[in-house]
Amino acid sequence: MRLSQFHLHTTKETPSDAELTSHRLMLRAGMIRKLASGLYTWSPLGLRVLRKVERIVREEMERAGAVEFQIPTIQPKELWEATGRWEKFGPQLLKIKDRKEQVFCYSPTAEEAAADFARQELSSYKQLPVNFFQIQTKFRDEIRPRFGVMRAREFLMKDAYSFHLHDECLVREYENMKSAYARIFTRLGLDFRMVQADSGAIGGDASQEFHVIAESGEDALVFSTGSDYAANMEAAIAAAPGERPAASEALRKVDTPTQKTCEAVAALLGLGLERTVKSIAIMSEGGFVLALVRGDHDVNEIKLGKVEGLQGYRMASEAEIATHLGSQPGFLGPLNPAQPIRIVADRDVAALADFVVGANEAGFHIAGVNWGRDLPEPEVADIRNAKAGDRAADGGELKIARGIEVGHVFQLGRQYAQALNATVLDENGKAAVLAMGCYGIGISRIVAAAIEQNHDDAGIIWPDAMAPWQVVVCMINPKQDETVSATAAELLAQLQAAGLDVALDDRGLRPGAMFADMELIGVPHRIVVSERGVAAGTFEYRARSAAEAEVLDKDALLAKLT
Ligand code: ATP
Ligand code: MG
Ligand code: MG
Ligand code: MG
Repeated sequence: MRLSQFHLHTTKETPSDAELTSHRLMLRAGMIRKLASGLYTWSPLGLRVLRKVERIVREEMERAGAVEFQIPTIQPKELWEATGRWEKFGPQLLKIKDRKEQVFCYSPTAEEAAADFARQELSSYKQLPVNFFQIQTKFRDEIRPRFGVMRAREFLMKDAYSFHLHDECLVREYENMKSAYARIFTRLGLDFRMVQADSGAIGGDASQEFHVIAESGEDALVFSTGSDYAANMEAAIAAAPGERPAASEALRKVDTPTQKTCEAVAALLGLGLERTVKSIAIMSEGGFVLALVRGDHDVNEIKLGKVEGLQGYRMASEAEIATHLGSQPGFLGPLNPAQPIRIVADRDVAALADFVVGANEAGFHIAGVNWGRDLPEPEVADIRNAKAGDRAADGGELKIARGIEVGHVFQLGRQYAQALNATVLDENGKAAVLAMGCYGIGISRIVAAAIEQNHDDAGIIWPDAMAPWQVVVCMINPKQDETVSATAAELLAQLQAAGLDVALDDRGLRPGAMFADMELIGVPHRIVVSERGVAAGTFEYRARSAAEAEVLDKDALLAKLT
């Protein structure tokens, strides 16, 4: 590839609205340009990187036995109503009307549509198991789109859906997908961890997330040094079904809504009474048990309330929660960071405690506290308290690291197939509801996450597997010396013949500007062809991550790169 025929557009200025390194560098390198909030155009340079990620994901999915299909991004309301997710998904679901007034949504994920395909395609257990995947645009109307493609509204996801007759088969495929994910992130050259997760709004039994480890990550991960226990913060605080959450126990001991109650709650939530947060909600699987945030004038109040009964709770809209708690719409608005928090227990806290314990004993998974994105994380000690004798029982220390969620796998069980009546005939000729698994990877987010993990002051340092080009051949003054361009062209052909993805920088820039561009866009290997080098039969080689360049003859150079 000759860069004179490509389109590169780098900038020196640091964009003022970009808070995160990856966002800044992607803009400066000219990989993405903003169209509107949470909507980005991928430039030719950015797209090269995105496609490399996509290719590796596709190869490993196919290697793992999954088969590619493609679902429309626009999906009918009726399908989403059948599973209850038209409401449950909340305001993230973008709703659309066509000219006939028929209502659709833009797919934020595609369990319903995949199950619909399965019910049309699968009729016998003999067709099972099968795992369908797609690499397709998704839209989520994120409340705070930010950090460029890291948390965009439109983004590219690999989503896969597997179908099974028996649970054991689902578990086997789940394990198979976990191994495939480990291969994908290893091949991409990323430092990653797999952690236990809550299944959240998607629901189901088991769930694990894959995180790229980075200081700037939005998620807190909890590790034990004594075992391979690793979980995201929600799962670490959460209690398993049947387990009494420590938080509920302590709440139950509090008799009346007094200052003591407030202090106890504050301590349990790891807040202290004078911490500043922007949002907090106490959640249960699939929905709010309580949602308790109010932005006030002098003070931020967190109100404790309770939901009546165990039956039928689900993800409520903000307006519903507001109505339920008797507050004004918009009460979930941001807290004032300059003001302290007051926790107000104006409802029956003992009943609340009973509710939490009761729900847990009834087999509901209490997902603990959903830490708002801007919430200070609870200290290790708080998690220990919440899990006294449990997680730390392995004798290890609990440590917290930060991560970027790049993948998520779920054992969904039969809820979607049941709701959509996706069945096959089993060995005895009887209709059996399909068991389902789903497996997501944030393709576009990976690009940003990789930059968070791999950069320096000069720019991006791509892992080889996702670099726009693995090697760039830079020519110094090619116009003054034709042997420079001839030597560079010959080298380019040799490197390409060896299977490398190579760019030739023939744009005629001064060396300083050319090198700065290549460092900014992160090409991992740079070769300089100069008049002096050609005369001596040598090339200057520098790995993007190395401090110094080295001078090599062609054999040594080819041996190094191929
Ligand atoms: P998050 O917790 O970051 O909001 P999620 O748990 O809502 O992500 P999933 O439903 O698990 O996301 O979707 C699968 C994958 O899609 C995620 O692991 C993530 O990598 C990616 N993803 C989700 N939301 C976005 C987004 N707004 N922008 C870019 N990628 C996203
Ligand atoms: Mg999300
Ligand atoms: Mg998540
Ligand atoms: Mg997730």
